[in-house]
Amino acid sequence: MNHTKSEEVYSEALEHIVGGVNSPSRSYKAVGGGAPVVMAKGEGAYFWDVDGNRYIDYLAAYGPIITGFGHPHIAKAISHAAETGVLFGTPTEHEVKFAKMLKEAIPSLDKVRFTNSGTEAVMTTVRVARAYTGRTKIIKFAGCYHGHFDQVLVAAGSGPATLGSPDSAGVPEAVATEVITVPFNNQEQFQLAMDHWGDEVAAILIEPIVGNFGIVQPNKGFLEYVHAIAKEKGVLTIHDEVITAFRFHYGAAQDLLGLTPDLTAMGKIIGGGLPIGAYGGRKDIMETVAPLGPAYQAGTMAGNPASMLAGIACLEVLKQPGVYEEMDRLGAMLEQGILEAAKKQGVTITLNRIKGALAVYFTDEKVENYEQAENSDGEKFGRFFKLMLEQGINLAPSKYEAWFLTTEHTEEDIVETIKAVNNAFSQL
Ligand code: PMP
Repeated sequence: MNHTKSEEVYSEALEHIVGGVNSPSRSYKAVGGGAPVVMAKGEGAYFWDVDGNRYIDYLAAYGPIITGFGHPHIAKAISHAAETGVLFGTPTEHEVKFAKMLKEAIPSLDKVRFTNSGTEAVMTTVRVARAYTGRTKIIKFAGCYHGHFDQVLVAAGSGPATLGSPDSAGVPEAVATEVITVPFNNQEQFQLAMDHWGDEVAAILIEPIVGNFGIVQPNKGFLEYVHAIAKEKGVLTIHDEVITAFRFHYGAAQDLLGLTPDLTAMGKIIGGGLPIGAYGGRKDIMETVAPLGPAYQAGTMAGNPASMLAGIACLEVLKQPGVYEEMDRLGAMLEQGILEAAKKQGVTITLNRIKGALAVYFTDEKVENYEQAENSDGEKFGRFFKLMLEQGINLAPSKYEAWFLTTEHTEEDIVETIKAVNNAFSQL
């Protein structure tokens, strides 16, 4: 495959854009370096780079593109916004319609508010939880990503009763010491942290199905336990459903799991590919937000008609009967094909899948927490990633990211992908 033009564009990008990318994970740093392919256009489950190479895409732009590229129903909605005004700085009917759709799909949302990104949505839920409880500490699970605001760029301390340290330069120590990190799926460690700090904790941030170290489900009873202890201690539960909302069914992961969080943050899919975030939850907690209450959050672009109309259109596509069943069916087919290829080629992998999202780890351990994902072979993943890319299959350039199916992938795409996996595995 020829990548001459991608290399040219990337080398120019390096001169003008810091690191050549507008989000660090887009670089190929985690897969052994090199110029990332520069994309020119997309259609359905495919995109083409500036050299004219076609790829079957499983990145889905890190999750949002669940209906593929250029979906006509969403394109029409975006065109309508472009023609009739993309921003007014006033209320619109679109945001009311969209808020009602979200509430109908996710029963824990009494009230919602739109933002421009997942980061903003999660950041605000933390502020609101602090305002509501009058407490400052938060608990998060190791390896879960919640955006790039200060409080969540914090790594685990050396034990559950140890406070965090900054994970990024520029995050003050004072912020990090407000954050407690515990391993996912570990009831004991969670209990220890709560015994030690429970009365000072405003909220627990939870990715109910983890999408930031592959795809990891909560073990049976784990999140039920977390929710119960939180309630006992007056700690709010915040579900970060930025990846999971509308990924696995028409609604949020909380409903699949039978959990009712106090607050929920969303993003990605609900914008139909346009910038968006949203948060919502229990009425009395949400009423802490300005102009009703003392917790401030705002946005010039928040609830803009383009994002609202694209989001509404995306949910309309996802509401069609059979959409999620088909992604599940193709996901199962892909899973089986990858597992068979691994067996045939003598490659050891662990595969986690939930419906149309899966993760392949080069490890012989099961993966239920971040440490196990971290222990998987990143160097091997890097080689696998590049072998797939060269065969026209685009994955996320990191061993920690999921493969996402869209409504546009077909059985033929899966067959082609499995063939490429076999070939890549044979060369590992
Ligand atoms: N929460 C989760 C679970 C995420 O995966 C992400 C982004 N990958 C975010 C929050 C942040 O969203 P955004 O990139 O839109 O700010």
